Amino acid sequence: MEPIYKSTRSKNIQASPKQAVLKGIAQDGGLFVFDDLDQIQIDLNKICSQSYLENAQYILSGLLPDYTQEELKECVENAYGNSFASDAVTPLVKVGDQYVLELFHGPTSAFKDVALTLLPQLMSQALKDTDEKALILTATSGDTGKAALSGFQDVKNTGICVFYPNGKVSNIQYRQMACQQGSNVHVYAVEGNFDDAQSMVKKLFLDKELNEFAAKNKVRLSSANSINIGRLVPQIVYYFEAYKQLVKDGVIQIGDEVSFSVPTGNFGDVLAGYYASLMGLPVKKFYVASNSNSVLSDFFETGTYDRNRPFVQTISPSMDILISSNLERLLYYMSGKDADQVAAWMKDLAQKGVYSVGDEMKKKLQETFGWGYFDDAATKEIIAEVYDKTGYVLDPHSAIGYGLGKEADGVVVTLATASPYKFSRDVLSALKEEEKDEWKALHRIEELSKTRAPKALADLETAEILHTDILQPEEMKEAVMTVTGEMK
Ligand SMILES: *Cc1c(COP(=O)(O)O)cnc(C)c1O
Repeated sequence: MEPIYKSTRSKNIQASPKQAVLKGIAQDGGLFVFDDLDQIQIDLNKICSQSYLENAQYILSGLLPDYTQEELKECVENAYGNSFASDAVTPLVKVGDQYVLELFHGPTSAFKDVALTLLPQLMSQALKDTDEKALILTATSGDTGKAALSGFQDVKNTGICVFYPNGKVSNIQYRQMACQQGSNVHVYAVEGNFDDAQSMVKKLFLDKELNEFAAKNKVRLSSANSINIGRLVPQIVYYFEAYKQLVKDGVIQIGDEVSFSVPTGNFGDVLAGYYASLMGLPVKKFYVASNSNSVLSDFFETGTYDRNRPFVQTISPSMDILISSNLERLLYYMSGKDADQVAAWMKDLAQKGVYSVGDEMKKKLQETFGWGYFDDAATKEIIAEVYDKTGYVLDPHSAIGYGLGKEADGVVVTLATASPYKFSRDVLSALKEEEKDEWKALHRIEELSKTRAPKALADLETAEILHTDILQPEEMKEAVMTVTGEMK
């Protein structure tokens, strides 16, 4: 198999799709990109006549050609066959003037499940060609850790260690992780805040003794973060699925353009949509919706990316991000695949926290993307307004997408990235009710929305706690060494 992925920062660094999935990031710090995306043209007629699983296999086979059809079929079935609460996997519902694509019917009730159920399968298949196993190390502020645990649970040739800040995650998030089942999962509370755990994980990836010990045991230390191509690719599928649903419902005909509004943090989700458009999906515009950490929305407005600003904690915490890593891939394509230019911008970002792309590029970006941001008060207003008008309850992240979606004309699909039940106290407060207890808030939302809370969330209230280890940051290495030693 010819290597077809290249680094965004250097044409000379290449990898096969399987290698790219196992490596995650290129050795020069760049992200793996597929140059000839526009040569994979997806047949919309075919999309409209196939199931989600068939479409996933079809789209993946274009982007990951060194996986056999049988391998991809197995990956897709393991990922989506019975872990999503909706047969459609990502159902589309009409809410007011917009269509809402519900991406939250997976095991942890948030959109990261769509990718984090498939990535472990892709890794496990790629590992079959090697004599290695993979150990995933993840620090989490709450949500990603659980989605990763659930995705890697009992996946062959893999193990996972998740570290969260002790006492600094919500009660639901704590129980989601502490009650996680699986023979290959390890969960630790770490004293300190998220950054302490995060910087220790980064140190561990570079730790000489640990890496030598892992190599001796044929264990590859790996991260499952959102720059891995194996997380991006699964997200392309649901853009085509939304389109299929609109055609089926008679809202559009094949060939018509639609717009997508996407609540954004690391720019992975909206980038997947951009990939879909390069692969033939008729898109009018993408709307990049931010919270008060408006670094992206300011970028599209001014052409300058400037992370030198205060970090704001919001009620949409999964979008509280100042460095949107996946934007680098967009810059690569938009600059005409100019790796040297991308490398220069990323160097500026690392050294000065700021870079500017110039007027010509800014103009190009503004033709394809709309932008905007909403602070917490505005977000709550959107939740209240949509509920009053339609009876539908949005979570704070999805509400931000919905708010910006109002600016689009024509058919617009807003990506709903989390279930309102995951953020029930803030959602209730937006609906002018205060409730401190998360479980009571969850049950109250059931009454207000006339829907049922996802079973996995509701069951947590009484689930058995399986993980109780509390570590100091400096004890994390020993914990990982122990797990590595047991993976042989
Ligand atoms: C991660 C996340 C986002 C942001 O997605 P990106 O791909 O990082 O832009 C939005 N909403 C929720 C609920 C998330 O978990």
